[in-house]
Amino acid sequence: MDYQPTIGLEVHVELNTKSKMFCACSNDPNEKKPNVNVCPVCLGHPGVLPVINKEAIRKTIKTGLSLNCQIPEHSKFDRKNYFYPDLPKGYQISQLYMPLCKDGFLGVDGRKIRIREVHLEEDTGKLIHPEDADYSLVDFNRAGVPLMELVTEPDITSAEGARKFAQNLQLILRYLSVSAADMEKGQMRVEANVSASKDKKLGTKVEIKNLNSFRAVERGIDYEIERQRELLDSGEEVLQETRGWDDIKSKTVSQREKEEAHDYRYFPEPDLPPLYNSKQLVEEIKAEIPELPQQKRERFKKEYQPDEKNIEVFVQNKDFGEYFEKVISELPPNLPRENLFKLTKLASNYLITDLQGLLKGASVAGLDFLITPENFAEFITLTYEKKISSKMAKILLTEMFKTGADPSHIIKEKELVQITDEAEIEKIVKEVISKNPKVVEDYKKGKETAIQYLIGQVMAESRGKASPQLVKEILTKVLT
Ligand code: ADP
Ligand code: ZN
Ligand code: MG
Repeated sequence: MDYQPTIGLEVHVELNTKSKMFCACSNDPNEKKPNVNVCPVCLGHPGVLPVINKEAIRKTIKTGLSLNCQIPEHSKFDRKNYFYPDLPKGYQISQLYMPLCKDGFLGVDGRKIRIREVHLEEDTGKLIHPEDADYSLVDFNRAGVPLMELVTEPDITSAEGARKFAQNLQLILRYLSVSAADMEKGQMRVEANVSASKDKKLGTKVEIKNLNSFRAVERGIDYEIERQRELLDSGEEVLQETRGWDDIKSKTVSQREKEEAHDYRYFPEPDLPPLYNSKQLVEEIKAEIPELPQQKRERFKKEYQPDEKNIEVFVQNKDFGEYFEKVISELPPNLPRENLFKLTKLASNYLITDLQGLLKGASVAGLDFLITPENFAEFITLTYEKKISSKMAKILLTEMFKTGADPSHIIKEKELVQITDEAEIEKIVKEVISKNPKVVEDYKKGKETAIQYLIGQVMAESRGKASPQLVKEILTKVLT
C-alpha cells in the first residue's frame, strides 16, 4: 500500500480595514514610502495602550459565519512573546485559547474540509535585505495591520485539493469584501502542514512556508509528499520541522525545527478587555453576508441554465456576473421559459467569448465600460430574433464597445440592416447565376458543394447584408 498524504492548512489574511488593528494608523497596503503609517502604539513604545478595531472583529466574524463556524459569545486576545526585528513590541497580540470563530467547514469538490478556527491577530513589519549590504532595513507600515488566521483540520488529501481550498477561500473573501486576498502581494498567505502515512495514525508533519501563489501551494506540497515518501521508503524518519518552498529551485529547504506553544509564553493580553459577541451582533453581521459563490453557482444553474463553464466565469468574476444579471433583467418581459433560457445562453456566450475578447481579459468593473445593460439586452434580442446576422452582430458589438451608442442607432448609421426583402435577394441571385454559368452547370450535374460558392458570391455582392438563410432558399428555388 502506498503512503496516504495528509494536509492541513494555516491561512493568514490581511483585512482591508481603514485603520490598523490597535491604533488609528492607516492600513494602506499600497503605501510605498516606508515608516509613514506608524505611531507609538504600533511601534511598541512603552506605556501606550491598544484599542480594538471593531471593523476587524466584524470582518472576522463575517468570514467565520460564511465558513459555517460557531461564534462563541466570549472571546479574548492573548499575548504571544517572541523576539524578532520586525516585531517592535517583542510580542504579537493574537488569540490562542478563545478564538472568535470555531468549528466550521468549507466544501471543496463536494467534500467538507473542517475548519478548526478563525482568529484575529496583528501583522508584523517587513524586513528588507539590500543585496551586498551588511545591514537590513525595516518598514513598520505593515506592523499592526489586522491579520486573520484560519486553521483547517488535517482533512485535505492532495496538493490539488489544498490549492482548490485556497482558491475557494480567496473567492469567498473577495465576495465578502474583507480582503483583496492577493497571494502575490502577501495579502493572503498559505502555510501547509504535510505528512504521509500508511495507516490511520497520522505521520510526522512538516510545515511549508513561503508558498506565494496557488501554483506554489500545489507544487510545494507535491514536492514535500514525494520527499517524505522517499524518506519513509528507505526506512528513515521524517523530522518535524519548518521548511521553506524555493520556487526557483523547485524544492523545500529546512528552515528550523518546530517550536511549541509553550515556547511563546502565551498569556492573556492584559491591556485589552475580553470580547462579548452578543447573539444580536452575530445576527446583524449574518444579515450583511451577500450571496456566496456556491449559492450563486446553484442559482445561476437553476435560473439561467447557461453551460457550466460560462456559469463558472460569472461566479469567479463577481462584477461580470452582476453585469450579466442586469442584462437579463432588461430582456423583454414575460418570455416563455424556453425562450428565456435560449436568450440567456446567447447572452452568456456573447458576453464571455466576444465581450471578454474585446475587454482583453480585464473585468467590466473599474473600466470605462460603455455598453449599458439595456443596450446589451437590445443587442441580444436583435440577434435572437435574427434581425442581424452573426457577422453583423460582431461588427455591431465592436462598435457598441467603442462608442457606447445604442444598437438601433448604430444599425441605422452603419446600414447594418439585414436584407430580408426576397425580391431584392432574388435580383442579386439571378445576377450571380448569370455570371457563373460553369458553377451552375456543376451544381446541376450533382456537385452539391457548388451551391456554397454561389451563396458566398451572393453574400459578397450584398456586402454581407443578405440573410444567409434566405439566400440559400432562393438560390435553391431558382436553380431547380
Ligand atoms: P501544532 O500544535 O504543531 O501547531 P496543530 O495540531 O495545531 O499543530 O495543527 C496545525 C496545523 O497542522 C493544522 O492545520 C492541522 O490541521 C495540521 N496538522 C496537524 N497534524 C497534522 C498531520 N499529522 N499531518 C498534516 N497536517 C497536520
Ligand atoms: Zn499605529
Ligand atoms: Mg497549533
